[in-house]
Amino acid sequence: MALNGVRDMPSSVWPTLRRQLRADLPPEEFRTWFHPLRVASEDAERLVLEAPNSRFVAALEEGFRPIVDWAIADLKGPTFEVLFKSSDSIKETARPAPRPPKAPAADDDAASGSSINPQYRFDSFVIGNSNRFACAASQAVAEKPGIAYNPLFLYGGVGLGKTHLLHAIGNRLRRTLPGTRVVYLAAEDFVNDLITSIRFERMPAFRERYRTIDVLLVDDIQFLARKERSQEEFFHTFNVLYTRQKQIIVTSDAQPRDLADMEERLRSRFGSGLLADIQAPDLETKVAILQRKARQMQSLDLDTDVALFIARQVHSNVRELEGLLNRVTAFASLSGARLDLDFAKEALRDVLPEQDRPVSPAQIVKLVAHHYGLKVREIKSKSNSRQITYPRQIAMYLCKRLTQMSYPEIGRLFNGKHHSTVMYSVEQIERRRAEDERLAAQLERFTRQLG
Ligand code: ADP
Ligand code: MG
Repeated sequence: MALNGVRDMPSSVWPTLRRQLRADLPPEEFRTWFHPLRVASEDAERLVLEAPNSRFVAALEEGFRPIVDWAIADLKGPTFEVLFKSSDSIKETARPAPRPPKAPAADDDAASGSSINPQYRFDSFVIGNSNRFACAASQAVAEKPGIAYNPLFLYGGVGLGKTHLLHAIGNRLRRTLPGTRVVYLAAEDFVNDLITSIRFERMPAFRERYRTIDVLLVDDIQFLARKERSQEEFFHTFNVLYTRQKQIIVTSDAQPRDLADMEERLRSRFGSGLLADIQAPDLETKVAILQRKARQMQSLDLDTDVALFIARQVHSNVRELEGLLNRVTAFASLSGARLDLDFAKEALRDVLPEQDRPVSPAQIVKLVAHHYGLKVREIKSKSNSRQITYPRQIAMYLCKRLTQMSYPEIGRLFNGKHHSTVMYSVEQIERRRAEDERLAAQLERFTRQLG
């Protein structure tokens, strides 16, 4: 029985390493120096990254070598070596040799989007009342791209299957319409690509890349919040594709009209097609998902009482369900014991919440920051710009309402704010909540997502 496999298994270590570097470096540095890199070749011991030119390579070596090595160590996986090479030197060495086997096909990596995950298919997606409509809409679009519903806008909380459906559409199209240029794109990558393109004066190529796509799958569009230039570029990209009857599918954590800090013209474009929401799965759907995953990934028939037990531990996030399932099956396989209810309880004892465990403050900060397009570091900073103070007040409010933290403790979490500032913030939000329906709904959503 395989112990791994439920999580995505990226074919390259670069996305994982890149994530680590992104966490380790200030955003500007990351964007400038690491976003432009591409995988030139890769094997178990060595990852060769292609940089725009030799000066760039020299600067990377000089400025970032130790950081890269630490990041590799932080991954705690097998060690490997990273080599930086300039495009020119790669072309030269590559000329007589065959193409490196792992270089992505042009379509896979078009528009710098990451490739489509073959595990996220319609047939691995469990349908329940919570996601039936969203799944049907996704299938309809995959049948007749550009015709049935354009754009399709899928929205819902974290871990409910939005990304899965997006990839499922991509996988279906790859099979049924192999000539179609399908691009999966995290909105965050769009932003980074835009920044790099501006910096290196490659805007015409940037526009060209995005405007020659047949089906554009954009994940987590809320990431464009407060990024005016990105919204503007995306708006134009959207219009070009839309007028050419190219299919656009967008996911988000909220419906268009609730997308805070997003231009009205974009919100109205998003709202003009078909909106489909995904709700939290009910207990039966969670059980079915667990049993399906156990079967597919581990060839294991999970007892219903075990599945029910695991399903009850998680409110809605399917990724968390998978995490618990992984843990239980790994323990069972390592110990050779039969996976019954008692075994599952024992295996999960350390990770399960105590009754009514309060939500963790880190979760709150992360969720709120992400929603408003901020970094955790920014929301915790001393900055008093309104774009930051308002989300920060909301995060403070949620900490007060959903955790056992005291005002001074919350103050310390936010870079030593005085407890009276925290009290004031909590009162502010409390007052506005009573007057502002949209805020009330947003707070409600945050609470649900944290539950
Ligand atoms: P989101 O993008 O909405 O945050 P994901 O699509 O990343 O969520 O889903 C999280 C995990 O849960 C993925 O591994 C996905 O395969 C799985 N998942 C979510 N919903 C379902 C479902 N209905 N059936 C099977 N797997 C699901
Ligand atoms: Mg997602």
